[in-house]
Amino acid sequence: MSSAARDLKSSESPIVTLSRRAADRLRSGHVWAYRSDVKPPPDVAPGALVTVRDDRGRTLGSALYSTASEIAVRLISSETVADDEALLALLHERVRKAIAYRERVVEGESNAYRLIFSEADELPGLIVDRYNDVLSLQALTQAMDRADIKSAVVTELMESQKTAGVASIVERVEPRVRQLEQLPPASDRLLVGEKSTAVYTLNGIKFGFDAFGGQKTGAFLDQRENYAAASRYAHGRALDAFCYQGGFALHLSPKCESVTGVDSSRPALEMAEANEKLNPGRPEIEWMEANAFDLLRDYAAAGEQYDTIVLDPPAFAKSKRNLETAMRGYKELNLRALKMLRPGGVLVTCSCSYHVSDADFLAMLSSAAADARRKPRILQHRAQSKDHPIIIGIPETHYLKCLILSLQDG
Ligand code: SAH
Repeated sequence: MSSAARDLKSSESPIVTLSRRAADRLRSGHVWAYRSDVKPPPDVAPGALVTVRDDRGRTLGSALYSTASEIAVRLISSETVADDEALLALLHERVRKAIAYRERVVEGESNAYRLIFSEADELPGLIVDRYNDVLSLQALTQAMDRADIKSAVVTELMESQKTAGVASIVERVEPRVRQLEQLPPASDRLLVGEKSTAVYTLNGIKFGFDAFGGQKTGAFLDQRENYAAASRYAHGRALDAFCYQGGFALHLSPKCESVTGVDSSRPALEMAEANEKLNPGRPEIEWMEANAFDLLRDYAAAGEQYDTIVLDPPAFAKSKRNLETAMRGYKELNLRALKMLRPGGVLVTCSCSYHVSDADFLAMLSSAAADARRKPRILQHRAQSKDHPIIIGIPETHYLKCLILSLQDG
C-alpha cells in the first residue's frame, strides 16, 4: 500500500499547504486553489480529503484534492472534517440542504431543475439535474468519482427524493473531463432503477428527456425562469434564433401569431418537433435548419421584420483569450436583430459565457443599438434561474446573462 493510500484510511487527513495568495482567496469566500499555489506538492491519493493550511500553519478548512486538475484544491468546509466517515456524513447533509433549497425556490408548474450545482451547493464537482422521475448525475472530479462518495450521494438522493417519485439515477459522463482528471474512461450508465427516459414539465410545458438516446439530450434548465419572463412580453411574429430543442419557441407560441425556431443541429430540431407534439392545441411552429448568422444577415438585408426575437447562442467565449472575437459575434447578432425589430418589438438576448461579464454584455448591446439606430429599453436584466445559485465570492457561479429589451412603440 502506498503512503498516499494509507493516508486515506487514517483518521487524520493529510495536510496541504497553500501560498499566501491562495489562502487569501479562500478567506475571501472562494473555494478553489490552483496547483501552482500548493507548496510543497503533497503525497496524497486522487480525490482525497485533505486539511488545508496557509503558509503560517493556520488551518483554513478541509478540501477535496485532485492530483490531476489545475484546480488542485476544492474547499468543502471551512471547518476541519476529521476523516472520511465525517466527510460522508457531511455529504448527506449537503445533498439534503440542496434539495430543501429547490423546494423553496422552484416556482410554477415545473418538475425539472438543477438539484445540485457543484460549488454553489458546497458539493464541488457534482451536478445533479432532475427530469421529473429521472435524475441525471455528473461527477466531474476525482473526489466525486470515488465509489464511497458516489454511493453516499446516490443513497441520499434516493432517500430525499422518495416523495418526488424519483425512479432512477443515470450517470452522464464527459470523456474530456475524465481525461483531465486522469480518471479511467467510463460510459453513461444507470446507477439506480431502469428508467432512462422521461417527460418533464417546465412552466406547464412538456418536454422529452432521453439519457441514452442516439443523440444525448438534456435541457438548458438554467433558462427556465427566463422562458417564463420572455413569454410575458412575446407577441406578433417571433424568431428563436438558436432554438435547440425549442425551449423558448414553445414558450412563445401561445402568445404569438407565428414562431420560427432556427438551429444548425438537425437532431436538436427533431427533438424540438417531438416536444411540440407533446403540447397539442397551440399555434404551429416552423422549425428551420440554418446557420443563424447567415439567416439573420440575409433576413435583415431582405427587410424582414419581427415583433419578438430570441438570441441564445452557444458560449462563444470559452476562455478569456477569445473574448474579443466572441464580442464581435454577439454584436453582429444583436445588431441585426435590433434592426429587424418593429416598433414595440422585444429582444430577448442571452450570453452563457462566464468570461463575458454583465458590463461587457451591456457595452456590446449599447454599441449594437447605436449602430442599428435604435434606443431599446431594458425591461428585465436577468441571470440564470435560482436553482443554479449564484454565490457571492465565487464569480464563476454567475455565468448566464439574459436581457429583455423593448423598442418604443412607433
Ligand atoms: N435556447 C436554447 C439553448 C440554445 S443552445 C434553449 O433554451 O434550450 C445553443 C444552440 O445553438 C445549440 O442548439 C446549437 O446547435 C445551436 N447553434 C450553434 N451554432 C449555431 C449557428 N451558427 N446557427 C444556428 N444554431 C447554432
